[in-house]
Amino acid sequence: MAPTPKDYAEIYKRLQAPISRVYDCGKKCAPFNDGQPVCCTTGHAIPIVEKSEYELLKSRTDMWTPFKPKSAADRAEIADLKGSACRAVACKGAAHCERDNRSMACRSFPFYPYFNPEGELVGLATYWSFEGQCWVISNIQIVERPFVKEMIDSHELLFAKDEDWRETYKEQSATMRRVYSRKGKRFPVIGRDGGYFWVLPKSGGKMIPATRAGLKKLEKGFPNF
Ligand code: SF4
Ligand code: SF4
Repeated sequence: MAPTPKDYAEIYKRLQAPISRVYDCGKKCAPFNDGQPVCCTTGHAIPIVEKSEYELLKSRTDMWTPFKPKSAADRAEIADLKGSACRAVACKGAAHCERDNRSMACRSFPFYPYFNPEGELVGLATYWSFEGQCWVISNIQIVERPFVKEMIDSHELLFAKDEDWRETYKEQSATMRRVYSRKGKRFPVIGRDGGYFWVLPKSGGKMIPATRAGLKKLEKGFPNF
């Protein structure tokens, strides 16, 4: 059964921590994106919410409205949602952002819950298509533990309410392993209980500890617009 608006209200309570209290990452990527944070512009990321989440948001704020496609690519992305429990929405933009009324996707970006090939939720990985545009992806060592803990707690509640979401992220994790194996590159995962790891390519998802020095090399990937 899909999570109810009440479930999403509880998820929001569990997912409030910022990625970092030190860095305002929006200020890092916005200069390369006409002054707007990349993940807050529909040209880069169309916000997708479950219909029940949208119901909750509408009861709390007028910040969100249905997304109006502007291009063929937008229309194709929206078409993919047909028949699903999700819909595309738009907010009023970063200048009018209400922190308490951000969607679950806003609170999570650029991370998603990463599952190893054994189906265990072992930490957080990033949405790789934003590499070079999202500063956080290239500076993953700035992520603070409260954020990691809240990401895991809130997603575990989501999975308890709807097993399909767990499957969605298992598939996302498997796709990331395939993509990076094809590239012959490792990718980082933030461990749910601490530490950072590399997932090695063509290894069946083998994870090895990552050093700060190794992670720092990711910084070279930003900016790349
Ligand atoms: S999460 Fe990434 S894309 Fe979003 S504002 Fe921060 S650096 Fe920019
Ligand atoms: S609600 Fe806030 S965080 Fe989410 S996309 Fe809009 S401006 Fe960005």
